[in-house]
Amino acid sequence: MGPPNRTLVGPYPINPPAVPAYPQGPAQLAAPATPHPPWNNLRCGWAGCAYTGSFTREADLWRHIRNLHVAPGSFPCFICGQTFNQLYNQRSHMRARHPEMMLH
Ligand SMILES: [Zn+2]
Ligand SMILES: [Zn+2]
Repeated sequence: MGPPNRTLVGPYPINPPAVPAYPQGPAQLAAPATPHPPWNNLRCGWAGCAYTGSFTREADLWRHIRNLHVAPGSFPCFICGQTFNQLYNQRSHMRARHPEMMLH
């Protein structure tokens, strides 16, 4: 018996939605090494943003938003564009206004 596999945790700024639970067992070792969250086609919804591509990771979307749209140190809601000066406030907003992004 080997040690438990703990490689699925990523640096998501919000609680990552539950990823599909892969069946565990020797026959399932060929499962993807880096399972994507269900919202892996993120788009920047910032008003006036000219970027039309999508992001496969939320961290990449955050970096785009922070680099192009908000000042460093602020925490934007990437759904509606509202900004917060504390991550806690942004998370509370996400839970209250965009629960589907938190619980999928
Ligand atoms: Zn943008
Ligand atoms: Zn929002």
